[in-house]
Amino acid sequence: MNWNFQNTYTKLPNVYYSDTKPHNFVNPRLILFNSDLANELNLNVNSNEEEICDFLLGKKNKEKKFFSQAYAGHQFGNFTILGDGRALLLGEHVYKNNRFDIQLKGSGQTPYSRNGDGKAALGPMIREYLVSEAMHHLHVSSTRALAVISTGEKIMREKFEPGAVLVRVAKSHIRVGTFQFGSILKNKNYFNNLIDYTISRLHPEIKNKSDKYLILFNKICEQQMSLILDWMRVGFIHGVMNTDNMSLSGETIDYGPCAFMDNYNPKRVYSSIDKMGRYSFENQSKIALWNLARFAETFLHLVDKNEKNSIKLIEEILEKHNKKFQESWINMMSKKLNLEITGDNKKLIKDFLDLMHIYKLDYTNTFVSLEKDILDKKIFGDWLTKYKSMVSKKYDEINPRVIPRNHIIENIINKTYDDEFSELNKFNEVLKKPYENDNVGHEFTNPPQEHEKVYQTFCGT
Ligand code: AMP
Ligand code: MG
Repeated sequence: MNWNFQNTYTKLPNVYYSDTKPHNFVNPRLILFNSDLANELNLNVNSNEEEICDFLLGKKNKEKKFFSQAYAGHQFGNFTILGDGRALLLGEHVYKNNRFDIQLKGSGQTPYSRNGDGKAALGPMIREYLVSEAMHHLHVSSTRALAVISTGEKIMREKFEPGAVLVRVAKSHIRVGTFQFGSILKNKNYFNNLIDYTISRLHPEIKNKSDKYLILFNKICEQQMSLILDWMRVGFIHGVMNTDNMSLSGETIDYGPCAFMDNYNPKRVYSSIDKMGRYSFENQSKIALWNLARFAETFLHLVDKNEKNSIKLIEEILEKHNKKFQESWINMMSKKLNLEITGDNKKLIKDFLDLMHIYKLDYTNTFVSLEKDILDKKIFGDWLTKYKSMVSKKYDEINPRVIPRNHIIENIINKTYDDEFSELNKFNEVLKKPYENDNVGHEFTNPPQEHEKVYQTFCGT
């Protein structure tokens, strides 16, 4: 078992991070361990539970140099200084020219904890593990989950909860909020350090181009909008698209009050504090563009000496991606309906979604029923007549059979509180093949009944 840590982030000016140590948890237990991912990272894990926990919590490192990152962010539109309040980077693990941030979430207080305890509860960490891994297997770019370790502590939330640490793996944790933090430092060198570091870390191929900052922006817009398109495809609602929760690596990050939609409602939100629908399902592409504009604001001075010119160039890129998203969305929905993407499918798509909305039908299962030709003819009769004259081909790995539904996750988490882990492990396996599991049990594919519905999830602390 060995990490190959070669840290580069700590070569940035030290305003961008703080040295931190994990809390010394006395009774760690391995609740979930992702051996496939461990193999991908070449970790050679073959020891007992106690040693694996010690290894994952950094106890076996000779040099204990861990750090938490500083960042800022717009939270529901309000600007705040933040930072890793309950997370630290164990290090940047390098394998085969790939660099992975290994982060502990819930590892204890840091200089950025404000009034928080720096800890995380077992339930939300299991939830992040299941949902982020499900996203990966759905081919949606995401941070990965290597393990969930329960700490043996009880932590105070609405009631006492078992504490846990999530071991998270990401291409990087540089966020839009990291740039917002770099920008308020009002130090040109510090800011240049950050943007040049980001280019060399995420897009090294552009580092010698004369207009590298605009190219960087264009690339990040492209990745972000294609990520949102994937969210729309699988019915995912992030829930808290604050600028500190938007990673420049293009990975979905921070699974707090997120959810996969059951009955289709474009205005659905899941965060208990999102009263205005800022982060609703249908608003996600617009909010992504708003966040990207906040990102661009931090480096306008590097695009062109004349600010007006810079703004014009940035706006052109944002508008291009806005248009492209609308087109890509129609193409993606056409694929979900197994239609030729060259056709004029807009109305057919809209009518299908409207019927789903009016009759409160499940977003995932309705597409599966269409493929199996078992849709309710009373609802879809007229629509199907038109559709059957247009349906052409079959796209694979577009419409999932299984998604991590909140009501199932809540049930599974409740069982783990009684030391019952078999359902958790079963569901974790099922989620690895979301496009193949046509025969998976109904208990994993049925939408929630009225009494099982989870309308809101609270910030996953
Ligand atoms: P999140 O909503 O998880 O993205 O968190 C927003 C901010 O609150 C981040 O800066 C977190 O590090 C911080 N935070 C969340 N939970 C805690 C906690 N229990 N203790 C300290 N900071 C926290
Ligand atoms: Mg966050």
